[in-house]
Amino acid sequence: KNKVLDTSSKDLTPSYDWFQTDYLVTVVIYTKQKGMNSEMVIVDHQDGRLRIDSILRDYSYLLHIELSYAVQEDITVHIAEKVGKVEIVLKKKDNIPWSKLGQPLNSHNSFIKCTDRGLYYRKCKLISKTEVTHDTKLFCLMLPQSTHLQVPVGHHIYLKQVIAGTEIVKPYTPVSCSLKSDFKEPSHHDSTHLILMIKIYPNGLFTPELDHLQIGDYISVSNSEGSFKKSQVQTLEDLFLLAAGTGFTPMVKLLNYVLTNVCGLRTVKLMFFNKTEDDILWRNQLEQLALRDKRFEVQFILSEPKKEGTGKQGKISSSLLSEFVKRSKKDSKVLICVCGPAPFTEQGIQFLQDLGYSKEEVHSFTA
Ligand code: FAD
Ligand code: NAD
Repeated sequence: KNKVLDTSSKDLTPSYDWFQTDYLVTVVIYTKQKGMNSEMVIVDHQDGRLRIDSILRDYSYLLHIELSYAVQEDITVHIAEKVGKVEIVLKKKDNIPWSKLGQPLNSHNSFIKCTDRGLYYRKCKLISKTEVTHDTKLFCLMLPQSTHLQVPVGHHIYLKQVIAGTEIVKPYTPVSCSLKSDFKEPSHHDSTHLILMIKIYPNGLFTPELDHLQIGDYISVSNSEGSFKKSQVQTLEDLFLLAAGTGFTPMVKLLNYVLTNVCGLRTVKLMFFNKTEDDILWRNQLEQLALRDKRFEVQFILSEPKKEGTGKQGKISSSLLSEFVKRSKKDSKVLICVCGPAPFTEQGIQFLQDLGYSKEEVHSFTA
């Protein structure tokens, strides 16, 4: 128990231990890092194999063990944030003493850069598919009961499918089930399900196959990745969001997060670029949110409007942005987030740079 308090050792490599009672087996990870939270620990248990991946800044500490005996499906994760201790509690199927935790598997007890770890996939069940627009759907996936995986704001996962004999992998950004500014804690639903808002391209490689999945079918879902950090918004006063098409997806959790958690926030403005009115995702929800929360404002810009004269038209431009991204106060702390097709994002970043915004004030979502 004293391992975590042992300041004489400068070794920051995490370590682990385990103990048992008649009914439980507890694996303890001493991460030696403060500020741990539930999103930093990913647990999978399948066919007697336990995999615990602790994400410590840019590093991954992996425990990977073939357990000595069978355990039940529901696994509990406790995190002592201040001391960085993680406890994974397993329920024994049979009430017998274990002489050891199990046999080490591939990469067990390794501490390496996240980028060197490789993606790990688990199969998730499609439980619903609902229309958002003529070509975009919400896919609700249920994580296995023995998986603990929470995708942080601004991060994406990868879906994997075998198409014509080849494994194809594409990134998607989980969203919340709706836009609301009136909840504090993530709902239980949030940690057991993943909701993806996906546009189906009739000539696309991946999305038509995805669209063919039936309710009850399974699809492989990876751990999450992403460079966005909540610290970028903690002391924010103005947040500007520039989204094009499905580039709206990272903005969903971000909006919910900032409107409930960032107390000094004065304005949040979304400029949402689409081809036509029919392409606008969650228009009604966005307008409702703007009515409910005075800090939030939304503007829709159409590049190929079907009829003239309804609202703003055009594509991303310096003149559109210079009007839109004005600080609410001189010197107010601002962040501008950009997401959409690559040329849109590149142009946006360039225009913002030309308008005098620093690199720290602009975040683009990319894979
Ligand atoms: P593709 O086969 O890639 O084709 C897409 C379109 O381009 C089709 O219309 C196709 O006809 C056309 N096309 C293909 N090749 C060419 C070519 N050579 N020349 C001209 N046109 C061509 N998408 C979402 O819907 N939701 C998300 O939440 C989401 N999150 C993402 C997060 C990240 C970090 C990134 C990088 C992308 C994200 N995407 C998201 C996009 C997603 O990863 C896929 O790119 C998208 O689903 C298209 O996949 P596809 O294989 O069906 O289409
Ligand atoms: P779309 O083709 O319907 O276009 C939406 C709007 O984007 C257009 O109305 C236009 O204003 C703008 N736009 C499109 N092409 C442009 C160009 N060449 N230059 C300037 N502006 C342009 O968009 P879509 O089919 O919904 O595609 C969304 C894109 O967002 C995809 O490329 C997807 O990969 C990307 N995306 C990225 C992330 C991420 O995190 N990086 C997340 C979600 C989506």
